Formats: sequence, C-alpha cells, structure tokens
Amino acid sequence: MAFWQSFDFLFCGLCGTLLRFDSVRCATCPLCGFKRKAKEIAGKETWYSVDVEVESALEEVAMERPLLSTPCPKCGQLKVRYYSRQMRSADEGQTVFNECGGCGHNWSENT
Ligand SMILES: [Zn+2]
Ligand SMILES: [Zn+2]
Repeated sequence: MAFWQSFDFLFCGLCGTLLRFDSVRCATCPLCGFKRKAKEIAGKETWYSVDVEVESALEEVAMERPLLSTPCPKCGQLKVRYYSRQMRSADEGQTVFNECGGCGHNWSENT
C-alpha cells in the first residue's frame, strides 16, 4: 500500500492514467487533459529521478531554438539556429555555432 501512496502524484487525479511530463513545471494526463503542477510534486522523494530526466530533455530543446538577437552576417535574417559547446579546456570558454535559416550560412563565435 505504501508503495502506491508514494507514487500517487504520478497519476491523474480524475481517471488514474499515468501522467506525461510536458515540462519541469507541469504534468498532463494524456487521456482527459488533467494537469498537475510540479510544485505539488516537488518535495516528494520519489520525484528526483524524473526531475533529472526532464531537465536534460529541456536542455536539448533550448539549444535548438532560434536566437533572435543575433542576425545572420551574410543576409541579415533573424532566423538563426544555434547550439553551444563547452570546450574541454576551461580557458577556451564556450563556442557558439550558428546556422542561418534563410541562406544556410554557418559561422561560430567564442563567448
Ligand atoms: Zn485523466
Ligand atoms: Zn543568412
């Protein structure tokens, strides 16, 4: 019984379906759309392993999103995708690789 009580928060409060984690902030029932906020979930010991998985998934998504503040130096478009890579040596800093969605121009910059 104790096992099921501790995993209660992973299931829909309305229909009992296993919730899907859309983000670190909330989980949604794929069947009826019931939402549970992570604030309710946080603080429960059993949450931690799930939390790490969701955060690393979000990191991958963030690196693919368009960076609106850096226009393409070739065509000036703002539809630039980028990803960054931390170099092994600490004094080399971080290199950001950019790719223009308009003309396909690739370039990198050190930050
Ligand atoms: Zn449900
Ligand atoms: Zn371009």
